[in-house]
Amino acid sequence: MVSFGKGMTLGPSSISNPYPLSVSVMEKDLDRYRRQLILKDIGMDGQMRLLDSKVTVIGCGATGSVIANALARSGVGHLTVVDRDVVEPDNLQRQLLFDEDDIGCAKAAAAGERLKVINSSIEVSSFVEDVGPGNIAPITKGSDLIMDATDNMATRFLMNELSVREGIPWIYTGVVETMGMSMNIVPGKTACLRCALPAIPAAGTLPTCSTVGIINTIPSLMGSIAATEAIKLLLGKGWSSDMVVYDVWKGFFDRFPVKRRVDCECCVEHKFDLLDGKGWGGASRLCGSDAVQITSPHDQFPSLKDLSRRLRAVGEVEDHGEFLRVRAEGYELVIFKGGRTIVHGTSDELVARSLYSKYVGN
Ligand SMILES: [Zn+2]
Repeated sequence: MVSFGKGMTLGPSSISNPYPLSVSVMEKDLDRYRRQLILKDIGMDGQMRLLDSKVTVIGCGATGSVIANALARSGVGHLTVVDRDVVEPDNLQRQLLFDEDDIGCAKAAAAGERLKVINSSIEVSSFVEDVGPGNIAPITKGSDLIMDATDNMATRFLMNELSVREGIPWIYTGVVETMGMSMNIVPGKTACLRCALPAIPAAGTLPTCSTVGIINTIPSLMGSIAATEAIKLLLGKGWSSDMVVYDVWKGFFDRFPVKRRVDCECCVEHKFDLLDGKGWGGASRLCGSDAVQITSPHDQFPSLKDLSRRLRAVGEVEDHGEFLRVRAEGYELVIFKGGRTIVHGTSDELVARSLYSKYVGN
C-alpha cells in the first residue's frame, strides 16, 4: 500500500469527486493528479488503481527514463527501477533522467533519487544489478507489470519466461537508429515474445545503438507509447495486443497482430531454460558504448575494499562505494559488488575477459 503519511479522507472542496473513496489519502497528494482525475479514461477509480499498483522497469537508459518518468508522475504507487550500468557522458544525449552531475553515478541509484524528487508520495526502489536468472524473480516479486527498457534480447527472453511462469504481464519495447517496436505480452491472453521470435538472435546479427546510432526522439516516442499501454493494462482498459512499429525519421507507422504459436516452447510448452540458467552467457557487449560486461563466475567474491587495496598497486583506483573504477593499460574497469564488471574501451569479449582475469580474478 502507498504511504501518504498522516491520512485523511478526500473531501469535495479540492476536487469534484463523484466516486466513493475506499482509500484514505491526503488531499494535496491527489491534487497533483487533477488532470488525470478529470480525464474520462482514468478518473478517481483509475487513479486509485494506479496508486495501488506496482511496476518494475528493467533498464534506466533512454527508454527506461521516459517510462519511469511517466509512471512516477502519473502516480504509480510502487515503482522499482533496475540497471547495471554507470552514467556516461554520451548517455546524456537521450537518457532524460540524468544530467552532467550524474556522470559516474550508478544509473539505477541516480534514477531512483530523481524519481523521488519528481514524486515524493510514491515508493521508489532501486537495484544496481544486472538482471539475470538468479535475481529476476526476487526483483520483480509482487509486480503487477514489468516494463522492458533493456538493450539486449537475452534479457527480454528471460523476462518473457518469468512473465509466463509467474503470470505477470510485461511490455516489450526496443529502439535503434530511428525506429522502435513495442508489444504488450499478457500471459494466457496474448502471444508471448517467443511466439513472435522463436529463438534469441545470434550475437552480431541485430543492429545496435553502438553500430548504427540512435536519434534521441525515438526512445521518447516509444517510451511514451509503452507507458500509456502500461496505464491501460493497470486499469484493465482497452490495451493493445498488436506489435506497433514506428520510424520517427520516415514518419512511418504500422501495427500488426502477433498470433500465438501452437508449439511455442515458452507459453505453450512451459520450458523455462533461461530461468534455469541454461544458455545464459557470462559476457556481453553493451549497446551504445564500447564496452563489455563480465558476470562473475564466482560465488565468493572479495570485498571492494580488499580489491581496491590490491589494485592500487597496478592502476588508478576510485572507490565509489557501490563500485570501483579502475584505469589500467588504457582501459577502464567498473567493478561492482559481487564481481560483475564492465570493461570500457573494447568491444572484444576476449580482451574484456582477459582484463577481467588479470585484474579481478581468474
Ligand atoms: Zn509463446
